[in-house]
Amino acid sequence: MLETLDHARLREYQWRKVGALLDAIYETPGNAFWRAAWARAGVLARGDVASWDDFQRLPCSTKRDLVEDQATHPPFGTNLTYPLERYVRVHQTSGTTGVPLRWLDTQASWEWWAHCWRFVLAGAGLGPGDRVYFPFSFGLFIGFWAGFEGARALGALAIPGGGADSVARLAAMQALGATALVCTPSYALHLAQTGRECGVDVSALPVRVTVHAGEPGAGIPAVRARIEESWSARAFDHAGMTEMGAYGYECAAQAGLHVNESEFICEVLDPATGAPAREGELVLTNLGRFGSPVIRYRTGDRVRVADAPCACGRTFQRLEDGILGRLDDMLILRGVNVFPSAVEGIVRRFGAVEEFQIEVFRAGELDEARILVEVTDSDGAAVCAALQEALRAGLGLRLPVMLAAPRSLPRFELKARRVVRRPK
Ligand SMILES: [Zn+2]
Repeated sequence: MLETLDHARLREYQWRKVGALLDAIYETPGNAFWRAAWARAGVLARGDVASWDDFQRLPCSTKRDLVEDQATHPPFGTNLTYPLERYVRVHQTSGTTGVPLRWLDTQASWEWWAHCWRFVLAGAGLGPGDRVYFPFSFGLFIGFWAGFEGARALGALAIPGGGADSVARLAAMQALGATALVCTPSYALHLAQTGRECGVDVSALPVRVTVHAGEPGAGIPAVRARIEESWSARAFDHAGMTEMGAYGYECAAQAGLHVNESEFICEVLDPATGAPAREGELVLTNLGRFGSPVIRYRTGDRVRVADAPCACGRTFQRLEDGILGRLDDMLILRGVNVFPSAVEGIVRRFGAVEEFQIEVFRAGELDEARILVEVTDSDGAAVCAALQEALRAGLGLRLPVMLAAPRSLPRFELKARRVVRRPK
């Protein structure tokens, strides 16, 4: 059982995969992107990476490296280990943080994606007999395509929810007896709200498990509680990236995210010094996507590694409280570091708040922020005052909270963008 291997056996298992990956990169023609990146750091041949120490001396990679490579070598860049005709799927990132990054997969790496999602869905207690609904527009964004494949690989019934609005999606879930829902945390809340508006009580549907990706939401206790209450189901968090794969998932103990170390190498580094740290930036390597691998990749996610073993018995590394925040999303307000996820954790304690937005603007040389909220069925001014007080107590900052008109703030099917920058 891979998930309970002891550390030494796990490292051996990983090292065999690293070896095979390096062989593929240094074969002819091999992978020009990684060979060039490493050559700049003095790693010139396969034999130069002969130990874990050598591996950890490979330079870290960033999204910017990949984006620049694609801009220089359109449309797919040079991170291709095989000739183009070996690739069977093309996807791209959601583009929430700039130019979308295109990504190609081979038959083998697409199967690998499904394999990784099996861990996610099985960790949430799903299996054959479950009917898993994906309210997702099946377009270029990889998002839940891979989850859909994972449900199929697990032996569950995978139900596509593309090409439909929220009302039609609820009707399909009802008609087909969906037992699980896989979407972003925001969209699960939005579907529940749509249900209230159109007379479908989502808590009465047979959905028993929800699995969430794309935003940190399901790892935020107040957001999780709200989803679980709306759907009367257990909500599970999951982490993945287009360029990396589906790497993190929750178990029944729900004590943070496990990293699937049978398919990924997990390092946590101090973002300033690059030294290993208990809390810092998550740096990942995938071990099953040889056609377009990503190695020692700085994810931009801040995480904290748990010391104690998990009650579930898995030995895979555990990230306490999941993804703590995106390093590039972090706001500095009057000298205080504020992750938008921390604001959301407080906002979501207020049941009357349907949707919210964080407006950031420049005041002199500094950033300032205010919170806009849509409130239903309550005294809006009172909710704003109470939320402002909760934010002050929770963050140590006085942030103005203002009412927005009903249905004026955007809703999101994919990654929610709740932080907007405005001119003053
Ligand atoms: Zn566990």
